[in-house]
Amino acid sequence: MISLMRLSLVFACSSIAVVPGEVRAQPQLNSALPQIKITLLGTAPGPPVRVEWAGISTLIEAGGQRFLFDAGYGSMARLVESGLPMDGVTKVFLTHLHSDHIVDLPAFLLLPWSAPSERGVPLEVWGPAGTTEMMRHLQEAFAFDIHVRRDLDEKVSEKGIEVIARDIQEGVIYNQNGVKITAFLVDHGAVKPAFGYRVDHAGRSVALSGDTRPSENLVAFSKGVDVLIHEAIDEVSLRKMAPREELFRAIVEHHTTPEQAADIFRRVGPRLAVFSHAQGGPAVVDRTRRSHPGRVEMGEDLMVIEIGDEVVVRRRGPGRLR
Ligand SMILES: [Zn+2]
Ligand SMILES: [Zn+2]
Repeated sequence: MISLMRLSLVFACSSIAVVPGEVRAQPQLNSALPQIKITLLGTAPGPPVRVEWAGISTLIEAGGQRFLFDAGYGSMARLVESGLPMDGVTKVFLTHLHSDHIVDLPAFLLLPWSAPSERGVPLEVWGPAGTTEMMRHLQEAFAFDIHVRRDLDEKVSEKGIEVIARDIQEGVIYNQNGVKITAFLVDHGAVKPAFGYRVDHAGRSVALSGDTRPSENLVAFSKGVDVLIHEAIDEVSLRKMAPREELFRAIVEHHTTPEQAADIFRRVGPRLAVFSHAQGGPAVVDRTRRSHPGRVEMGEDLMVIEIGDEVVVRRRGPGRLR
């Protein structure tokens, strides 16, 4: 018998706006080095699976820490492909609970824990209302595996299969070791709440839109960031996929067209705007550039963006990234 009593979800306060943490003195910064490194692990739009793309997932490294934003399908494989170990990420932030943003969460919870390297620390997850409950259900769904590996057979770390889950509200949700992460509400239609995030470190910053139609709140919270990573929908290419009319309208109304993105970029004024989770390919960037003169790039899997004195973009090429 598997005892569900042994499930080891650690319930943090169910609604935490601020996770207090000691802000330690920063090490001497070398301004020649980038202060924030972003790796677009997965950039695919929507739920359709394509072999050449992983689902939406973005890794941000700052202040010696790693933060994962969303965990779409294939993002664990991309993490390993980027050169990091499976247990290289223990802090995950969810923009919203649509499946194409979270379906690899079981991989991040279970596989690094039961691999020979044995993650020995809990997985921490921040997300909208429902996140804590979802993580508890995930542990229940995998109760057999957890019980056998932890209690009977390999005796894998008890600590490493714990989850510290937090249902967040808008505001500063993480502030430790010089890295501040702020969650802000965006507008994803019926999907409420849905969040975007802003990461600040050493005077540098990046914001992620999550899924949203044009959001005034995003503009307010993202103002002046170095890099803005934004979703988009090209309704022309979507139409070619022949969805039902009702579905077509719902998709377009819950996302941001290239022209709307151009307006957002103009008002936020990032040094670099990057599309990720954008339906429509190069046409999205072409349409955006017609009315936004600033720097815009189409994201692709394993693209690396370094924010320092310069904002450097490295696309996946031959050879390893690290
Ligand atoms: Zn999405
Ligand atoms: Zn969504």
